[in-house]
Amino acid sequence: MFDGKQTQFRAECGFYRECYVGAAPEADVRWNGASGGAATWVLGQLLQQKKIDQIVAVERKTGNSPLFQCAVFSDLAALQKNSKSSYYPVEFSQVLQQIRTIPGRYAVVALPCVCHAIRLLQQQQPVFQERVAYLLGLCCGKQKSTHFAEEIIHRSKLGESAQELIFRTKNIRRPLADYGIEIRGKKHKKTLYFREDNILKTWVSDCYSLPGCFFCDDLFAECADIAFMDAWLPEYSNDPLGTNLIIDRIGLLEELPRAFTPISIDMILLSQEGAFRNKQRNANVLRRFFKMDGIRRPISLSWIARGEVMSHYYRALATNRPSGPVRMLLNALAKSNQIVWKIADKIWKRKYLS
Ligand SMILES: Cc1cc2nc3c(=O)[nH]c(=O)nc-3n(C[C@H](O)[C@H](O)[C@H](O)COP(=O)(O)OP(=O)(O)OC[C@H]3O[C@@H](n4cnc5c(N)ncnc54)[C@H](O)[C@@H]3O)c2cc1C
Ligand code: SF4
Repeated sequence: MFDGKQTQFRAECGFYRECYVGAAPEADVRWNGASGGAATWVLGQLLQQKKIDQIVAVERKTGNSPLFQCAVFSDLAALQKNSKSSYYPVEFSQVLQQIRTIPGRYAVVALPCVCHAIRLLQQQQPVFQERVAYLLGLCCGKQKSTHFAEEIIHRSKLGESAQELIFRTKNIRRPLADYGIEIRGKKHKKTLYFREDNILKTWVSDCYSLPGCFFCDDLFAECADIAFMDAWLPEYSNDPLGTNLIIDRIGLLEELPRAFTPISIDMILLSQEGAFRNKQRNANVLRRFFKMDGIRRPISLSWIARGEVMSHYYRALATNRPSGPVRMLLNALAKSNQIVWKIADKIWKRKYLS
């Protein structure tokens, strides 16, 4: 698939031709992007140069669930309005049906697992080989369930009136890593910040991560033609405007106006070191576990129990705001749940990774 003389390979991230750092040259596209807006800019260029007719990406919805869904765009303004990341599961079957029935050249933006599924589909059904002209991948640590969005809405106290959720809004006075989550209600809107409002804690606790993500070891969208990610390197991560790192596997950026600077693959791997280690370790440990019949059931049950305990804990804190002994009891429960899981984690690692 990724052939050619210049193609190189690294076990950590798959095939690549060239890697880049940079951001969308247009200020508004950069500001509206999750990172540096590079994904939206590249999609816009492909559309303007008529290399594609339509784009499959994610659209934010207003009103009740789902808050995000897959959509087909042929209009640049609508695409730009819907940039940023969706930490919310989206379903692809309807747009795939549309690609199958409506002829044209499509660019599809997707997470690594969906890129993999689309490549398999292309092998089975030639119509997708012909029509999906470009597959753009987003680097992915883990995806969250809809409950994550629900908790954010609870925390915002906008309750039933919440209409729209925008992940990864930027603030010129904050580093990119402390990004905002804007909750728009019927009359008011509120922004919670990833670090300041302690969302980071919920995020890393993994209690809303999708179960399948614990088995996934593809961080860099290895099946995509090009993969986009945040530049989590000290020289870029404090810039509130956002910067991208890009792995170009087919030389796509050589066909577009020059907007990005080459960077070494080692810098790309360094930028994702934490996510990479976490993902590989989880996937290795859990794959081995789930292969073993004898312990399959207890492990999966205790895993679900951990997620449930933590999710009830965060919800109880967010909705009832308990104080005094009730809060102490909740904290103690959550703490002991975390301690049990840390011990279990150490035992697994010693047993299965040594
Ligand atoms: C669940 C998730 C986990 C991620 N984990 C990491 C990580 O660990 N490390 C890292 O460096 N980067 C991660 N990213 C990628 C990062 O958040 C940015 O999406 C990426 O850097 C591109 O930024 P941009 O400014 O170029 O994109 P934008 O210009 O904002 O464009 C993003 C495009 O992607 C589409 N999109 C958004 N969410 C989804 C989705 N769920 N499925 C399909 N299309 C979508 C949008 O509709 C838009 O067209 C993750 C993204 C997601 C959605
Ligand atoms: S972690 Fe893997 S399985 Fe989960 S959403 Fe990301 S790519 Fe898909």
